[in-house]
Amino acid sequence: MAQVLHRVMAATQYGASDMTRKPLLSLVTPAYNEAEGIQAFHARAQAVMESLDGLDYEMIYVDDGSRDDSFKIMSEFAATNPRVKVVKFSRNFGHQIAITAGLDHARGDAIVFIDADLQDPPELIHEMVTKWRDGFDVVYAKRARREGETKFKLWTAAMFYRLLRSLSNIDIPQDVGDFRLISARVANELRAMREKDRFIRGLVSWVGFPQTFVLYDRDERFAGETKYPLKKMLKFAFDGITSFSNTPLKVATWMGYGASALAFLYLASVFVQWAFGITVEGWATMMVAMLFLGGVQLICIGILGEYLGRIFNEIKPRPVYIVQEVASSAETTTPDLD
Ligand code: UDP
Ligand code: MG
Repeated sequence: MAQVLHRVMAATQYGASDMTRKPLLSLVTPAYNEAEGIQAFHARAQAVMESLDGLDYEMIYVDDGSRDDSFKIMSEFAATNPRVKVVKFSRNFGHQIAITAGLDHARGDAIVFIDADLQDPPELIHEMVTKWRDGFDVVYAKRARREGETKFKLWTAAMFYRLLRSLSNIDIPQDVGDFRLISARVANELRAMREKDRFIRGLVSWVGFPQTFVLYDRDERFAGETKYPLKKMLKFAFDGITSFSNTPLKVATWMGYGASALAFLYLASVFVQWAFGITVEGWATMMVAMLFLGGVQLICIGILGEYLGRIFNEIKPRPVYIVQEVASSAETTTPDLD
Protein backbone atom coordinates (compact mmCIF):
# COMPACT_ATOMS: atom_id res chain seq x y z
CA MET A 1 0.00 0.00 0.00
CA ALA A 2 2.70 2.39 1.01
CA GLN A 3 4.54 1.55 -2.16
CA VAL A 4 1.50 2.22 -4.32
CA LEU A 5 0.97 5.53 -2.58
CA HIS A 6 4.60 6.37 -3.12
CA ARG A 7 4.27 5.67 -6.85
CA VAL A 8 1.11 7.72 -7.16
CA MET A 9 2.79 10.60 -5.42
CA ALA A 10 5.84 10.26 -7.64
CA ALA A 11 3.61 10.27 -10.71
CA THR A 12 1.78 13.45 -9.77
CA GLN A 13 5.05 14.98 -8.77
CA TYR A 14 6.43 14.94 -12.29
CA GLY A 15 3.18 16.06 -13.74
CA ALA A 16 1.96 12.75 -15.20
CA SER A 17 -1.50 13.50 -13.84
CA ASP A 18 -1.80 16.11 -16.54
CA MET A 19 -2.32 13.88 -19.56
CA THR A 20 -2.27 16.68 -22.10
CA ARG A 21 1.34 17.67 -21.69
CA LYS A 22 4.69 16.04 -21.16
CA PRO A 23 6.49 16.88 -17.94
CA LEU A 24 9.00 19.67 -18.38
CA LEU A 25 12.63 19.43 -17.36
CA SER A 26 14.57 22.69 -16.91
CA LEU A 27 18.33 22.82 -17.16
CA VAL A 28 19.85 25.78 -15.33
CA THR A 29 23.42 26.78 -16.21
CA PRO A 30 25.28 29.73 -14.66
CA ALA A 31 28.04 31.08 -16.87
CA TYR A 32 30.72 33.63 -16.09
CA ASN A 33 33.28 34.30 -18.82
CA GLU A 34 32.74 30.89 -20.37
CA ALA A 35 32.96 31.95 -24.06
CA GLU A 36 35.73 29.43 -24.74
CA GLY A 37 33.81 26.35 -23.78
CA ILE A 38 30.13 27.23 -23.82
CA GLN A 39 29.52 26.02 -27.37
CA ALA A 40 30.85 22.55 -26.60
CA PHE A 41 28.76 22.50 -23.44
CA HIS A 42 25.60 23.53 -25.24
CA ALA A 43 26.00 20.93 -27.98
CA ARG A 44 26.44 18.13 -25.45
CA ALA A 45 23.74 19.31 -23.06
CA GLN A 46 21.19 19.94 -25.80
CA ALA A 47 21.78 16.45 -27.23
CA VAL A 48 21.04 14.97 -23.82
CA MET A 49 17.90 17.08 -23.36
CA GLU A 50 16.63 16.06 -26.81
CA SER A 51 17.17 12.40 -26.01
CA LEU A 52 15.11 12.34 -22.80
CA ASP A 53 12.16 10.01 -23.21
CA GLY A 54 8.71 11.45 -22.55
CA LEU A 55 10.01 14.80 -21.31
CA ASP A 56 9.82 18.26 -22.71
CA TYR A 57 12.75 20.52 -21.86
CA GLU A 58 13.94 24.09 -21.51
CA MET A 59 17.47 25.38 -21.04
CA ILE A 60 18.09 28.47 -18.97
CA TYR A 61 21.48 30.14 -19.08
CA VAL A 62 22.34 32.84 -16.62
CA ASP A 63 25.09 35.17 -17.76
CA ASP A 64 26.61 36.34 -14.51
CA GLY A 65 28.01 39.63 -15.85
CA SER A 66 30.54 38.05 -18.21
CA ARG A 67 33.06 40.41 -19.78
CA ASP A 68 33.71 38.18 -22.78
CA ASP A 69 31.41 37.06 -25.60
CA SER A 70 29.45 34.57 -23.48
CA PHE A 71 26.16 36.44 -23.76
CA LYS A 72 26.45 36.89 -27.51
CA ILE A 73 27.14 33.21 -28.03
CA MET A 74 24.36 32.10 -25.70
CA SER A 75 21.90 34.48 -27.38
CA GLU A 76 22.60 32.60 -30.60
CA PHE A 77 21.54 29.37 -28.89
CA ALA A 78 18.31 31.13 -27.95
CA ALA A 79 17.80 32.45 -31.47
CA THR A 80 18.01 28.96 -32.97
CA ASN A 81 16.18 27.03 -30.27
CA PRO A 82 12.96 28.41 -28.73
CA ARG A 83 13.53 26.19 -25.70
CA VAL A 84 16.58 28.23 -24.72
CA LYS A 85 16.42 31.37 -22.61
CA VAL A 86 19.36 33.53 -21.54
CA VAL A 87 19.10 35.77 -18.50
CA LYS A 88 21.77 38.44 -18.38
CA PHE A 89 22.72 40.06 -15.08
CA SER A 90 23.62 43.73 -14.88
CA ARG A 91 26.97 42.72 -13.32
CA ASN A 92 28.69 39.76 -11.67
CA PHE A 93 26.60 38.62 -8.71
CA GLY A 94 28.25 35.24 -8.11
CA HIS A 95 27.61 31.61 -8.86
CA GLN A 96 25.05 30.93 -6.12
CA ILE A 97 22.96 33.95 -7.08
CA ALA A 98 23.15 33.02 -10.76
CA ILE A 99 21.70 29.60 -9.91
CA THR A 100 18.95 31.36 -7.97
CA ALA A 101 18.01 33.49 -10.97
CA GLY A 102 17.91 30.37 -13.15
CA LEU A 103 15.63 28.75 -10.62
CA ASP A 104 13.34 31.80 -10.59
CA HIS A 105 13.02 31.69 -14.38
CA ALA A 106 12.60 27.93 -14.66
CA ARG A 107 9.11 26.51 -15.06
CA GLY A 108 10.02 22.81 -15.01
CA ASP A 109 8.43 19.93 -13.13
CA ALA A 110 12.02 19.17 -12.30
CA ILE A 111 15.09 21.38 -12.49
CA VAL A 112 18.71 20.39 -12.95
CA PHE A 113 21.57 22.75 -11.99
CA ILE A 114 24.74 22.17 -13.97
CA ASP A 115 28.05 24.03 -14.44
CA ALA A 116 28.97 25.38 -17.86
CA ASP A 117 32.50 23.98 -17.92
CA LEU A 118 31.61 20.32 -18.59
CA GLN A 119 33.02 19.27 -15.24
CA ASP A 120 29.53 17.95 -14.61
CA PRO A 121 28.71 15.44 -17.40
CA PRO A 122 25.24 16.24 -18.85
CA GLU A 123 24.73 12.55 -19.69
CA LEU A 124 24.20 11.90 -15.97
CA ILE A 125 20.84 13.65 -16.27
CA HIS A 126 19.35 10.39 -17.59
CA GLU A 127 20.12 8.64 -14.29
CA MET A 128 18.91 11.62 -12.29
CA VAL A 129 15.58 11.59 -14.11
CA THR A 130 15.17 7.86 -13.43
CA LYS A 131 15.61 8.45 -9.70
CA TRP A 132 13.19 11.37 -9.83
CA ARG A 133 10.61 9.12 -11.49
CA ASP A 134 11.21 6.65 -8.68
CA GLY A 135 9.87 9.31 -6.36
CA PHE A 136 12.90 11.21 -5.10
CA ASP A 137 12.66 14.98 -4.79
CA VAL A 138 16.37 15.68 -4.77
CA VAL A 139 18.93 13.71 -6.75
CA TYR A 140 22.40 15.09 -6.18
CA ALA A 141 25.46 14.02 -8.10
CA LYS A 142 28.15 12.66 -5.85
CA ARG A 143 31.73 12.76 -7.05
CA ALA A 144 33.40 9.38 -6.97
CA ARG A 145 36.61 10.83 -8.43
CA ARG A 146 37.77 14.34 -9.28
CA GLU A 147 40.08 14.96 -12.20
CA GLY A 148 42.33 17.93 -12.67
CA GLU A 149 41.86 19.63 -9.33
CA THR A 150 44.74 20.66 -7.16
CA LYS A 151 45.58 18.77 -3.97
CA PHE A 152 45.02 22.05 -2.15
CA LYS A 153 41.45 22.36 -3.43
CA LEU A 154 40.60 18.74 -2.64
CA TRP A 155 42.05 19.00 0.86
CA THR A 156 40.44 22.34 1.70
CA ALA A 157 37.10 21.11 0.35
CA ALA A 158 37.30 17.95 2.48
CA MET A 159 38.18 19.96 5.60
CA PHE A 160 35.44 22.49 4.93
CA TYR A 161 32.69 19.89 4.61
CA ARG A 162 33.91 18.09 7.73
CA LEU A 163 33.86 21.38 9.66
CA LEU A 164 30.43 22.31 8.32
CA ARG A 165 28.96 18.95 9.27
CA SER A 166 30.29 19.20 12.79
CA LEU A 167 29.09 22.78 13.21
CA SER A 168 25.60 22.59 11.73
CA ASN A 169 22.63 20.40 12.50
CA ILE A 170 21.68 19.74 8.91
CA ASP A 171 23.20 16.89 6.99
CA ILE A 172 25.05 18.32 4.00
CA PRO A 173 26.39 15.36 2.00
CA GLN A 174 30.10 15.19 1.28
CA ASP A 175 31.68 15.41 -2.20
CA VAL A 176 28.59 17.02 -3.61
CA GLY A 177 28.37 20.26 -5.58
CA ASP A 178 25.38 22.07 -6.98
CA PHE A 179 25.00 19.60 -9.85
CA ARG A 180 21.65 18.09 -8.92
CA LEU A 181 18.03 17.58 -9.85
CA ILE A 182 15.26 19.03 -7.73
CA SER A 183 11.52 18.46 -8.00
CA ALA A 184 8.98 21.24 -8.45
CA ARG A 185 7.99 21.25 -4.79
CA VAL A 186 11.60 21.61 -3.64
CA ALA A 187 12.06 24.35 -6.24
CA ASN A 188 9.03 26.18 -4.85
CA GLU A 189 10.42 26.06 -1.33
CA LEU A 190 13.80 27.34 -2.55
CA ARG A 191 12.21 30.17 -4.53
CA ALA A 192 10.54 31.37 -1.36
CA MET A 193 13.92 31.74 0.38
CA ARG A 194 15.24 35.17 -0.49
CA GLU A 195 18.35 35.24 1.66
CA LYS A 196 21.25 37.03 0.04
CA ASP A 197 24.38 35.22 1.18
CA ARG A 198 23.26 31.92 -0.25
CA PHE A 199 24.64 28.48 0.16
CA ILE A 200 22.34 26.53 -2.11
CA ARG A 201 23.50 23.00 -1.39
CA GLY A 202 22.85 23.68 2.29
CA LEU A 203 19.40 25.12 1.59
CA VAL A 204 18.46 22.05 -0.46
CA SER A 205 19.46 19.75 2.41
CA TRP A 206 17.58 21.96 4.82
CA VAL A 207 14.36 21.71 2.78
CA GLY A 208 14.26 17.94 3.27
CA PHE A 209 11.98 15.57 1.24
CA PRO A 210 13.28 12.23 -0.07
CA GLN A 211 16.83 12.76 -1.29
CA THR A 212 19.23 10.41 -3.02
CA PHE A 213 22.36 10.53 -5.15
CA VAL A 214 23.98 9.17 -8.28
CA LEU A 215 27.73 8.65 -8.53
CA TYR A 216 29.93 10.18 -11.21
CA ASP A 217 33.53 11.00 -12.04
CA ARG A 218 34.19 14.70 -12.11
CA ASP A 219 36.13 15.66 -15.21
CA GLU A 220 38.59 18.43 -15.78
CA ARG A 221 37.37 21.80 -16.89
CA PHE A 222 36.82 21.67 -20.67
CA ALA A 223 38.19 25.16 -21.36
CA GLY A 224 39.22 28.28 -19.52
CA GLU A 225 40.14 28.64 -15.88
CA THR A 226 38.25 28.25 -12.64
CA LYS A 227 36.02 31.23 -11.90
CA TYR A 228 36.40 30.55 -8.20
CA PRO A 229 39.55 32.27 -6.97
CA LEU A 230 40.49 31.81 -3.31
CA LYS A 231 38.65 35.00 -2.31
CA LYS A 232 35.31 33.74 -3.71
CA MET A 233 35.93 30.32 -2.18
CA LEU A 234 36.45 31.88 1.24
CA LYS A 235 33.25 33.91 0.98
CA PHE A 236 31.42 30.78 -0.09
CA ALA A 237 32.81 28.87 2.91
CA PHE A 238 31.89 31.65 5.34
CA ASP A 239 28.38 31.84 3.86
CA GLY A 240 28.01 28.10 4.35
CA ILE A 241 29.07 28.19 7.96
CA THR A 242 27.36 31.37 9.11
CA SER A 243 24.04 30.61 7.45
CA PHE A 244 23.80 27.16 9.00
CA SER A 245 25.51 27.43 12.34
CA ASN A 246 25.78 29.69 15.39
CA THR A 247 28.62 27.63 16.80
CA PRO A 248 31.34 30.21 15.96
CA LEU A 249 29.53 32.64 18.28
CA LYS A 250 29.71 30.05 21.01
CA VAL A 251 33.38 29.48 20.25
CA ALA A 252 33.90 33.18 20.98
CA THR A 253 32.41 32.67 24.43
CA TRP A 254 34.53 29.57 25.05
CA MET A 255 37.66 31.45 24.06
CA GLY A 256 36.75 34.10 26.63
CA TYR A 257 36.43 31.42 29.32
CA GLY A 258 39.68 29.82 28.16
CA ALA A 259 41.60 33.08 28.32
CA SER A 260 40.23 33.83 31.81
CA ALA A 261 41.17 30.34 33.00
CA LEU A 262 44.72 30.79 31.71
CA ALA A 263 44.95 34.17 33.43
CA PHE A 264 43.90 32.60 36.76
CA LEU A 265 46.43 29.79 36.38
CA TYR A 266 49.14 32.32 35.71
CA LEU A 267 48.03 34.37 38.70
CA ALA A 268 48.35 31.28 40.88
CA SER A 269 51.83 30.59 39.55
CA VAL A 270 52.87 34.17 40.30
CA PHE A 271 51.73 33.73 43.91
CA VAL A 272 53.67 30.50 44.23
CA GLN A 273 56.82 32.09 42.83
CA TRP A 274 56.37 35.05 45.16
CA ALA A 275 55.95 32.70 48.15
CA PHE A 276 59.24 31.01 47.26
CA GLY A 277 60.94 34.33 47.01
CA ILE A 278 61.47 34.25 43.24
CA THR A 279 61.38 37.66 41.60
CA VAL A 280 58.68 37.75 38.96
CA GLU A 281 59.81 39.60 35.83
CA GLY A 282 57.15 42.10 34.86
CA TRP A 283 57.61 43.50 31.40
CA ALA A 284 57.77 40.41 29.20
CA THR A 285 54.93 38.59 30.91
CA MET A 286 52.75 41.72 30.79
CA MET A 287 53.31 42.03 27.07
CA VAL A 288 52.54 38.36 26.42
CA ALA A 289 49.35 38.51 28.47
CA MET A 290 48.20 41.72 26.84
CA LEU A 291 48.86 40.52 23.33
CA PHE A 292 47.16 37.22 24.07
CA LEU A 293 44.05 38.90 25.45
CA GLY A 294 44.07 41.47 22.65
CA GLY A 295 44.21 38.65 20.11
CA VAL A 296 41.37 36.71 21.67
CA GLN A 297 39.23 39.83 21.84
CA LEU A 298 39.85 40.76 18.24
CA ILE A 299 38.99 37.25 17.08
CA CYS A 300 35.74 37.35 19.03
CA ILE A 301 34.85 40.77 17.66
CA GLY A 302 35.66 39.46 14.19
CA ILE A 303 33.27 36.54 14.63
CA LEU A 304 30.56 38.91 15.85
CA GLY A 305 31.32 41.15 12.87
CA GLU A 306 30.84 38.30 10.40
CA TYR A 307 27.34 37.71 11.70
CA LEU A 308 26.56 41.39 12.06
CA GLY A 309 27.63 42.05 8.47
CA ARG A 310 25.38 39.31 7.25
CA ILE A 311 22.43 40.59 9.28
CA PHE A 312 23.06 44.04 7.77
CA ASN A 313 23.13 42.51 4.31
CA GLU A 314 19.89 40.64 4.88
CA ILE A 315 17.91 43.60 6.20
CA LYS A 316 18.74 45.86 3.26
CA PRO A 317 15.67 45.73 1.04
CA ARG A 318 17.64 45.22 -2.15
CA PRO A 319 16.83 42.58 -4.73
CA VAL A 320 19.02 39.48 -4.72
CA TYR A 321 20.08 40.23 -8.32
CA ILE A 322 19.31 42.57 -11.20
CA VAL A 323 18.46 41.36 -14.69
CA GLN A 324 19.63 43.54 -17.55
CA GLU A 325 18.21 41.57 -20.44
CA VAL A 326 16.55 38.29 -21.31
CA ALA A 327 17.27 36.68 -24.69
CA SER A 328 14.73 34.24 -25.97
CA SER A 329 13.23 33.57 -29.39
CA ALA A 330 9.94 32.53 -27.79
CA GLU A 331 9.11 35.86 -26.20
CA THR A 332 10.31 39.45 -26.22
CA THR A 333 12.68 40.79 -23.61
CA THR A 334 11.16 42.09 -20.44
CA PRO A 335 13.64 42.71 -17.69
CA ASP A 336 11.95 41.33 -14.60
CA LEU A 337 13.56 42.19 -11.36
CA ASP A 338 13.95 39.57 -8.70
N1 UDP B 1 30.23 31.03 -12.17
C1 UDP B 1 29.34 32.10 -12.14
N2 UDP B 1 29.67 33.24 -11.47
C2 UDP B 1 30.86 33.38 -10.81
C3 UDP B 1 31.75 32.28 -10.80
C4 UDP B 1 31.41 31.12 -11.49
O1 UDP B 1 28.25 32.02 -12.72
O2 UDP B 1 31.08 34.44 -10.23
C5 UDP B 1 29.86 29.81 -12.89
C6 UDP B 1 30.91 29.31 -13.88
O3 UDP B 1 30.74 29.91 -15.15
C7 UDP B 1 30.63 27.82 -13.91
C8 UDP B 1 30.16 27.54 -12.49
O4 UDP B 1 29.74 28.79 -11.95
O5 UDP B 1 29.59 27.48 -14.79
C9 UDP B 1 31.24 26.92 -11.62
O6 UDP B 1 32.40 27.73 -11.66
P1 UDP B 1 33.87 27.11 -11.80
O7 UDP B 1 33.84 25.97 -12.76
O8 UDP B 1 34.80 28.21 -12.13
O9 UDP B 1 34.12 26.60 -10.33
P2 UDP B 1 34.99 25.30 -9.91
O10 UDP B 1 34.45 24.14 -10.71
O11 UDP B 1 36.40 25.63 -10.24
O12 UDP B 1 34.71 25.17 -8.44
MG1 MG C 1 34.26 24.06 -12.68
